[in-house]
This record gives sequence, C-alpha cells and structure tokens, in this order.
Amino acid sequence: TSKIRLGIVGYGNLGKGAVEAIKQSPDMELVAVFTRRDPESLVLDIPGVKAVHISDASDYQAEIDVMLLCGGSATDLPEQTPHFASMFNTVDSFDTHAKIPEFYQAVNEVATKHNKTAIISVGWDPGLFSINRVMAEAILPSGETYTFWGKGLSQGHSDAVRRVEGVKNGVQYTIPAEQAIEKVRSGANPELTTSEKHRRVCYIVAEDGADKAAIENEIKTMPNYFADYDTEVNFISAEELARDHSKAPHGGFVIRGGNTGENNNQIYEFSLKLDSNPEFTASVLVAYARAAYRLSNENQFGAKTVYDVAPSYISPRSAEELRRDYL
Ligand code: NAP
Repeated sequence: TSKIRLGIVGYGNLGKGAVEAIKQSPDMELVAVFTRRDPESLVLDIPGVKAVHISDASDYQAEIDVMLLCGGSATDLPEQTPHFASMFNTVDSFDTHAKIPEFYQAVNEVATKHNKTAIISVGWDPGLFSINRVMAEAILPSGETYTFWGKGLSQGHSDAVRRVEGVKNGVQYTIPAEQAIEKVRSGANPELTTSEKHRRVCYIVAEDGADKAAIENEIKTMPNYFADYDTEVNFISAEELARDHSKAPHGGFVIRGGNTGENNNQIYEFSLKLDSNPEFTASVLVAYARAAYRLSNENQFGAKTVYDVAPSYISPRSAEELRRDYL
C-alpha cells in the first residue's frame, strides 16, 4: 500500500519535531517543508525532501495528502490554517483556548467549501488533555475536573512573549502549585482559582535600549495568555538564556475527583512527563494526520477537533488488530 504523503508548513521547533515523528512512522513520508524564509537557508538534511517557499505550496496539491501546520498560534495559524485548508487536508496545534470557537468557524467554512478535512487544535493541551477532561466528566458526572501544567516551558506562551516589541528572545515556564495538586488528589475537590493552581515565570532577553518596564507591563496584561495569572518577568542576558533555558520540557495532569454511590471517591488521573514538548506535540500531529487522511477518503470534510476523531483513525493498526491485541 502507498504511504501517506505529508508536507510541513513552518520550520520551527514543532516543524523539526514533525520531521523526527515522521521518521518513526513507516506508513508516512515527508515530501517537502514550506517556509516563509529563504528555503535555501533551512538546514534540511533529509534525502528526497525539498525546502520550498510557502508561496509555491499551491503547486503541491497533487503530491501532498496532509499538510502539518507548524506555525505559531499567536499570529501564524489564524492566517495559515484557513489559507491552507482551501488547498490541503490539514492538522494544526492552535492552542489559544479562548479563541478556538472562532478559529473553528473560520477553518470549517473554508474546509467545507473546498472538500478538505482540517483537524484543529491537536497536541496535548489542547488535544490529549481535552479528551481526558471530557471522558472523566462523562464517566463521573458528579465531581470536579482540574488541569495542572508543568513545570514546563510553554511553546505558545514563549511564542507570545517573543512577539512583544523590544523582546529579543525569551521563554516562559508554567509551574503547578504542589499543594494544590495534593489537595485535588485527596478527593477534597477544593475551589482553586487559576493563579492558586499555577504561576507563570518569564525569562526575557531585551533588545538593546528597550523599555523593560513597558515589556513587563505588556506581558503581564496580555489577554488570554497572562492577564489572569500571577506572572513574574525576569530580564537576563542572551548567554544566560542559552546556558540555562535551552531545553523544552513540559507535562502536566488532568485530574477529576468524582464520587459515586453512597460515598465512594473515584480519582481519574491522566498525566504526561515530556522531555521535549515540541517533539511530543509533533508526534500527536503526525498521528492525527493519519486520521485526516482517512476522514478525507471517507468524504468527512470540514473542521474537526480531537472530539470528532475515533481512536482507530489515529492508529496505524487495522480494526481487526486493535480488537485482537489491544482491546
Ligand atoms: P516556533 O519555533 O517559534 O516556530 C513558529 C514559526 O516561526 C515557524 O513555523 C517558522 O515559520 C518561524 N520560525 C521558526 N524559527 C525561526 C527562525 N529562527 N527565524 C525566523 N522564523 C522562525 O514555535 P514552535 O515551538 O514550533 O511552536 C508552534 C506552536 O505550536 C506554538 O505557537 C503553540 O501554539 C503550538 N503548540 C501547541 C501544543 C498543544 O498541545 N496543542 C503544544 C506545544 C506547542 P517559517 O518557517 O515560515 O519561518
């Protein structure tokens, strides 16, 4: 059988992670990587894979089954997903939770019109965590669900701080409050505000002569990303950033404390511990590319989320194998 032919749009952390994930998927092959930069400038050491300018992507409609959209959520994906969903089946990792409804609508309109399948907001959160929040609540209607992130470097939030004027480079860590996690695990179902559950800590390298107070203020008041959190902004040198903050670990917990019957506590917990957030997220994107390909072959067009995709669609195994070896 022929392989699923993939393209990557955007060659940042996620794009590079996607290359690694495709290498581990024998039913997939990478055709080309598309970038807004000079394609010659990309270090792409993979035989047979082309680096192509993003403006030439429309020439590849017959050669690519699914496009993995690896741009940033802050400003890239709101433009790139609707644009590419008019030409290709797509998978993206749009993670601005508050804007998912409008993003879905914009993508759904284009994808439906052009008979494409666009799976949006795939990854771990949104993505695997989203699935587990819904499963836990459906199974334990009486209870409370909690999501904790980190300790880890958040791609979406680091992306957002790097786009602030005067910021040369920067990273953002999300840190869960240990006390809060323990309370939740005990089944006490405490009331916790967002800032009681986590803190956000930023390490920023400012441009020479930049107004640091203005940078700090813009970050702390940024809607959706920072405004509702206890946020700390630290300014450091480029050397310190390179030395202390060049890895991208992440993870977290979805925990539901439920109760059934007379008075039995039921704790549902799903957790991830990731050495590389972008490599893991890209691995989720690649698995869902399989689903996008299959759904498109079944004429199931339009925008989809992880809620619409059955697990068998993301597995390389057949339905018979899944029933025999995994159920
Ligand atoms: P990134 O490294 O900043 O890359 C974003 C884009 O910036 C790339 O597509 C690339 O586009 C451009 N770029 C990258 N390196 C560049 C460079 N050296 N110079 C100029 N431009 C460069 O972001 P990322 O870490 O890949 O993350 C992308 C998004 O993934 C995040 O915004 C986040 O929303 C999402 N994410 C989602 C989840 C989830 O669980 N759903 C988890 C993690 C991340 P061009 O190649 O076109 O220049």
